[in-house]
Amino acid sequence: SISAKDTTYHLHPYTNLKAHEEQGPLVITRGEGVRVFGEDGKEYIEGLSGLWCASLGFNEPRLVKAAQKQMETLPFYHSFTGKVPDVTAELAEKLVDVTPDGLDRALFCNSGSEANDTAIKLVWYYNNARGKPEKKKIISREKAYHGVTIAAGSMTGLAYAQNGFDLPASERILQTSCPHYYRYGLDGESEEAFATRMASELEELILAEGPETVGAMFAEPIQGAGGVILPPMGYFEKIQAVLKKYDVLLIADEVICGFGRTGKMFGSQTYNIKPDMMTLAKQMSSGYLPISALMVSDGLYQVVKERSNELGVFGHGLTYGGHPVPCAVALEVLKIYEERDIVAQVNAISPYFQDRLATYADHPLVGEVRGTGLIGAIELSADKASKTPFDPSLGMGAGLVKKCENHGLILRAMPGDCVAFCPPLISEQTDLDALFSRFDAALAEM
Ligand code: PLP
Repeated sequence: SISAKDTTYHLHPYTNLKAHEEQGPLVITRGEGVRVFGEDGKEYIEGLSGLWCASLGFNEPRLVKAAQKQMETLPFYHSFTGKVPDVTAELAEKLVDVTPDGLDRALFCNSGSEANDTAIKLVWYYNNARGKPEKKKIISREKAYHGVTIAAGSMTGLAYAQNGFDLPASERILQTSCPHYYRYGLDGESEEAFATRMASELEELILAEGPETVGAMFAEPIQGAGGVILPPMGYFEKIQAVLKKYDVLLIADEVICGFGRTGKMFGSQTYNIKPDMMTLAKQMSSGYLPISALMVSDGLYQVVKERSNELGVFGHGLTYGGHPVPCAVALEVLKIYEERDIVAQVNAISPYFQDRLATYADHPLVGEVRGTGLIGAIELSADKASKTPFDPSLGMGAGLVKKCENHGLILRAMPGDCVAFCPPLISEQTDLDALFSRFDAALAEM
């Protein structure tokens, strides 16, 4: 059986391997709209768009056609030493066009992790080039998720993603506080005061390390895998003032937030972020093929360009970076976003989604409900008033998600018993009704 093949031959990412051998996989064989189907024919609503990816659902025919056409025309070519597939250059232009002003070039990779690793290398290259070779430290935040490669994995601030690996401790990767007001706000501290404190803690860290040694800060507009943590009011304005003061670059990791998820095209626009670089993936191709991009400002590009001329080459690139087939699919995705006005579509449906989500705030097991656009989370709590978390050994979040699965709904549990919702951007009211009625059935069993 497929299940036996999986438990015998497959080493699973982000899975308890021992338990998995006993329990076996959920084998998914087919997708249609916001739904996927198991090998037994059971139907599931994908409440997390796969892994925050499948914005256009699971069977958009235009993407199939775009991939097939590209496979027939030019199935592979690369971008090293000045060559380029036509669609790769087309996509670069389109991304510069669709991203906020001030991001003027696209460098292609295959995953979010690679794009973030590449961004770190560019910070180092750039600061070497402008005569500031000590300015190499990178700041991320607790509960951040930036990927799993050694550098991006070191920036990730979640224990479950680091335990057991003994990643090389680097004095070049630092962490500042997580701006989760519900969990870390002090008694009587307003949201605004909390944001101010977050900015002061960042400034203290930069001063303690020496501003001349700090190169960049990475931030997801909304911390996704950390539990869909929305920034408190005014947070990014205050953070950016600190970064500007000490000449520290800001890199927006828009791997989840990018392409309409938050109700604007980018999370940076929702939260007034003016990044020097931006990383993109996931919804850029609706997840249909692996592709990511690092967007950079012209100012940064000009410095890198001059330095590459001195050195003879910009010595970085991935064989499959800018691969023509995912580029053709991403181009078609962007065309669909434009033609269907995906941002308007999100804004039309998101009040309904957020209203439905908000009703759970009164539930005795729920500590906080939060969200914006078509992303949200419910944080479970053992005691509403004191916000006491459940004992982690109870696995309340994971338990709820498992019950959802039994009722035909796929969601994802995050640390701290948060359950994340991130339905496809094409979700209609009837899809959301089905999603929430299945969630109700699962929650009732808790
Ligand atoms: N950045 C963010 C915000 C993510 O959520 C993820 C993956 O979930 C990544 C980076 C890593 O992307 P990948 O898994 O494609 O390497």
